[in-house]
Amino acid sequence: MSVSTEDIKSRLDIVDIVSESVNLRKSGRSYSGFCPFHSNTRTPSFHVFPDTQTWYCFGECAEGGDVFAFVMKKEGYDFKEALKVLAQRAGVTLEEPSPQEAKRRKSEDKLVDLLTMAVEYFHQLLLHAPQAAGARAYVADRQLNEDTVATFHLGFALDSWDACRSHFTDQGYSDAELLAVGLLTENPDKGTRYDRFRNRLMIPIRDVDGRTVGFGARTLDKDGVPKYLNSPQTAVFDKSHLLFGLDTAKRHIREARQAVIVEGYMDVMQGWQAGYRNMVAQMGTALTGEQMQLLKRSTKRFVLALDADAAGQKATMRSLQVARNTLDREYETRFDARGLVHQEGRLQAEIKVVTLPEGYDPDRIIRTEPERWPLLLSEAQPVVAYVIETATRDLDLDDARVKSEVAQEIKPLLEDIADPIERDHYRQLLARALRIDERSLRLVPASSQRAPSRMPPPPEAPPLDEAGAPQQILAVVPDAYKREANFLRQCLEHPHLILQVNQKLLGQGQDAVRSDDFSVYEDRLVLAQIYERADQTAVVAIAELCDSLDEVLAGRIRRLLVLPVTPSSQLANLPRSLALSVLDWRLVAVNGQMARLQQLLSEPVQADENGETRAQLTGRLVELSLISRRINKAKYAMSAAGQLRAGQEHGR
Ligand SMILES: [Zn+2]
Repeated sequence: MSVSTEDIKSRLDIVDIVSESVNLRKSGRSYSGFCPFHSNTRTPSFHVFPDTQTWYCFGECAEGGDVFAFVMKKEGYDFKEALKVLAQRAGVTLEEPSPQEAKRRKSEDKLVDLLTMAVEYFHQLLLHAPQAAGARAYVADRQLNEDTVATFHLGFALDSWDACRSHFTDQGYSDAELLAVGLLTENPDKGTRYDRFRNRLMIPIRDVDGRTVGFGARTLDKDGVPKYLNSPQTAVFDKSHLLFGLDTAKRHIREARQAVIVEGYMDVMQGWQAGYRNMVAQMGTALTGEQMQLLKRSTKRFVLALDADAAGQKATMRSLQVARNTLDREYETRFDARGLVHQEGRLQAEIKVVTLPEGYDPDRIIRTEPERWPLLLSEAQPVVAYVIETATRDLDLDDARVKSEVAQEIKPLLEDIADPIERDHYRQLLARALRIDERSLRLVPASSQRAPSRMPPPPEAPPLDEAGAPQQILAVVPDAYKREANFLRQCLEHPHLILQVNQKLLGQGQDAVRSDDFSVYEDRLVLAQIYERADQTAVVAIAELCDSLDEVLAGRIRRLLVLPVTPSSQLANLPRSLALSVLDWRLVAVNGQMARLQQLLSEPVQADENGETRAQLTGRLVELSLISRRINKAKYAMSAAGQLRAGQEHGR
């Protein structure tokens, strides 16, 4: 059985879902409250519309969508996760797992259960066992308090070859199970089996959902090696897919709108104890793409605070590379000198680097000079500045080839910077550091390829002359969604159509079609597919496309395919008529927002309100009316009458 998002939405009320986290108050036909996505306490600019089952923030966010978009933004879920959660809420069963999948999940659950019991076993030993006196002394020496020990469920493994094994054998577990979770180790030559963790401080490692999947273990022997011993790779433990502390930190990362990435367990725990709770540790390896994927659900702002030694610097550089490769890029569409459209990918994320004083790690700084930590964080350098400094330090500036290599290496980072002034600033900085002319730096080819275009381009509209824009009378559109669906249908049929539509829109100073033109969340995903197809020279058949997609997304596309296709005899006119229909539904959306804003502004002012946020809303209203005028102007220019008039003026 395949489930559609419509099935799920029809069983849920967006008002219920939003009410769980936002205090909503009825106002007219909608509900309003304080926006959960930007800090505001004065004007309830966040609105939920039961009629359309959508939400919109009229304040700083100026953004909205359906219940999926809300849950994804609120919880930092991706579409699949939101689907899982909302399906469960709606009492809808998603696809039954295959027998193998069900079997795999069951055996994974068993491993996690065993590990959870082990956490408790080690924890009790740390708290109470006489043999754990040394471990308790170590914890005290690291200045970790009871609360922290409890939060992270720290434990102690006895200095014994078989204490853990016999404890769990008594509970009915087999050697095979203990081997499978990595509590037991087998000597491959002799075939002997013994406890993996002996005389160590046990630090449970949980996945992003809080399930215990393994341990990091600090030796308590003086000069013991290795200092940290982790669980081996198991069915549930894969270091490259985990970040220590993320399960507890994710909420704080969202609140602080920033994740601080550190090297070790102690850094995270010390930070937690001191109130810096948006910290996660990458556990000894350089950051991986999978770890980045986990993090970016919660934020797009990262600070790397890795050790200051040479190895730490290398790890920082590698992590930066991974981060750049993993994070999303925003595509700007521009006209260049020859009138062609080209796209530039800019990183949709902020990455900064903290330079720690030589010989210090975050744990030591927070422990010994707590007031210094926030200072260091606030002084974190933008990644480009850090890399320029690191790459040009101790460089032989007499060697032209070395200079050229460094320039090529850093160039992609410069291109990532969205702000042109900032970009220029760092280009100059690099030119100075390399003692070369800035102009020659512009000609340097970048050494690494940028990620391919995936997302719809959100272009910047060229400036428009506002004077004399003819106002069109707005036709009432009974069902705006129908236009959206028709648009997607035609673009699915004709892969390059969307580029022609965009050309029409851009030609009238309007934005290219982008994801927030669609309020139904799946349609945003369908749009991304359309853009991907438009980019390809050899276009995949729709059937093939559906095969490669999620069942839910494929289902949406199949339902769109039922809609009629424009006959090829009318194809010539299609880009224009679709561009006009985009403008129509944009206008409906903008006018609707204006009406609601006016209503919001007409409501009585509460005593504790100050005028500033109302001024912001008024500003937004002015902005919207400008947007509305621009759309009307573009519509007129694109309409038959407008084209005729332009032709006549041209002929005169
Ligand atoms: Zn907001």
